[in-house]
Amino acid sequence: MKLAGRVGQVSPSMTLAIDAKAKAMKADGIDICSFSAGEPDFDTPKHIVEAAKTALDQGKTRYGPAAGEPKLREAIAQKLQHVNNLCYGADNIIVTNGGKQSLYNLMMAMIDPGDEVIIPAPYWLSYPEMVKLAGGTPVIIPTTAEAGYRITAEQLRQAITPQTKLFILNSPSNPTGMVYTPDEIRAIAAVVVEHDIWVVSDEIYEKILYDGAQHLSIGAASPEAYDRTIVSSGFAKTYAMTGWRIGFLAAPVPIIQAVSTIQGHSTSNVCTFAQYGAIAAYEGPQTCVTEMVTAFAERRQVMLDALNAIPGLQCPKPDGAFYVFPDISKLGIKSIDFCSALLEQKQVAAIPGIAFGADSCIRLSYATGLDTIRKGMERLDAFVRSL
Ligand SMILES: *Cc1c(COP(=O)(O)O)cnc(C)c1O
Repeated sequence: MKLAGRVGQVSPSMTLAIDAKAKAMKADGIDICSFSAGEPDFDTPKHIVEAAKTALDQGKTRYGPAAGEPKLREAIAQKLQHVNNLCYGADNIIVTNGGKQSLYNLMMAMIDPGDEVIIPAPYWLSYPEMVKLAGGTPVIIPTTAEAGYRITAEQLRQAITPQTKLFILNSPSNPTGMVYTPDEIRAIAAVVVEHDIWVVSDEIYEKILYDGAQHLSIGAASPEAYDRTIVSSGFAKTYAMTGWRIGFLAAPVPIIQAVSTIQGHSTSNVCTFAQYGAIAAYEGPQTCVTEMVTAFAERRQVMLDALNAIPGLQCPKPDGAFYVFPDISKLGIKSIDFCSALLEQKQVAAIPGIAFGADSCIRLSYATGLDTIRKGMERLDAFVRSL
């Protein structure tokens, strides 16, 4: 059988594959320390679960509008106004099956063959694949550990061509955990406006910040930047709701309408009663978020201290998300070889940086218990010393 050409152009998700292998080894009774998962280890907060249960009891089990329950679209618009200083109404919002579907549908709605999409590396591994699936061309801007894995406004300017349609900004970042400062965001926004390109701002980790780091949505940098911004976010990371599959886009109405049309012919609405859990997440108390971030902050410190004691690793201190991204280039081994040997010899699961466009690095998630972190870092230390 001959499959469609587009299948050959994309790679399967390496993070999902390695995480599945680690989970299978664990199920076989192997003592695994897994740092591969891109998800919080906490349970979804009770009041959110209760709201979804109540919605089920109330019969919220039927098809709803493709763009989402009106009440949730309104709650998201309110949150963006009050938390992010972004002036959106409910008609500027579409509710999607997670941030992943938001971005996929957006590429389908905006990208034509020949369009270029600028992506700083290290990047979330799905960005270039989604661009390719839409027929566009990913244009990668590399960054280094020394530069804190951040691009400058000048680097963005130099990557722009007449074919540039869109720039993907992800702060706080998966996989590096870096956060752009408000001044850096303003400088990048000025370039976006000057060259009249679009920016999609993936803000899924906006609440997971440390050491006083601040998140500025690029759409709030100036009215001109707002006109060219699409915000992509969701509930998975902030509220430990990865399996619920709820994300959203906020954008000018014509973009939301285009994405709704695509969604109306693919998945239709997000699970109706799950959307009521999301309403509770935004309208209920936010202490659950603070508690999770406090736990992440302690784990981050334990992991960083352990990593910095391992000779040959270089690891910038991340200000957000729940990942560290140590540079292993001094060890003279490629990231895939490093991670497969680490898993086989020491039963420690990490993701090779090559999946994120940085073969000199590995990604470790600290969204896991302190005991696992301590044990896993001891094993990593022994592994590196054995190389
Ligand atoms: C987890 C993640 C998403 C989206 O996750 P969903 O579970 O689909 O909501 C989007 N962007 C980045 C950078 C992520 O890490």
